Amino acid sequence: MALKIHTIPVTSFMQNATIVWDEDTKDCIISDMGGKVDEFLTFINDNHLKLNAIWLTHGHFDHIQGVAEFLTKQAVDVLGPQQEDLFWIQGLPTVLKNYGFPLKESFTPTRWLKEGEQLTVGNYPFTVLEIPGHTPGHVVFYSEKAKLLIAGDVLFLESIGRTDFPKGNHQDLINNIKDKLLVLPEDTTVITGHGPYTTIGHEKKYNPFL
Ligand SMILES: [Zn+2]
Repeated sequence: MALKIHTIPVTSFMQNATIVWDEDTKDCIISDMGGKVDEFLTFINDNHLKLNAIWLTHGHFDHIQGVAEFLTKQAVDVLGPQQEDLFWIQGLPTVLKNYGFPLKESFTPTRWLKEGEQLTVGNYPFTVLEIPGHTPGHVVFYSEKAKLLIAGDVLFLESIGRTDFPKGNHQDLINNIKDKLLVLPEDTTVITGHGPYTTIGHEKKYNPFL
């Protein structure tokens, strides 16, 4: 038995919304609820999973715009990101308008997350790591036991997150990736915010930004 993952790309930005579950206990979480709410609810139902929480890596609209709709259909705790991303979450309706997307409501997370906090999916512990740079309150979720990193928009296959947004910081992003992520075991699978998964070992060797 094992920890399982299933990713559904959502919005025209193809954000990787991912459901993570423990096959033994059937506990699950969704990381970055950016849309396709009914598809996720159906998946949870069909696989007899118990949804514990929605986790958020950061406050960008393609990662959070399904949250308010989800909460109208099923009550669940919304954890994260770090509090510095409050302005992104509060600004959701404005950002959607600027991008020409249909208006969606914002929401308030159940609570913010902090460096070093422990979360769980069934029998699998995850540690919260703060990786500011792409956004100031960006967090990632690391499970040593599952050899899995949910990286949001920090690290991509041979690329890194953009830092040309308000309160973005390129050097912070590079330093945080080097100090906190490249030190993880090389066989750690990285669920990226967009595009294919990668591994820490692959990025150490081939990422031109690091
Ligand atoms: Zn982003």
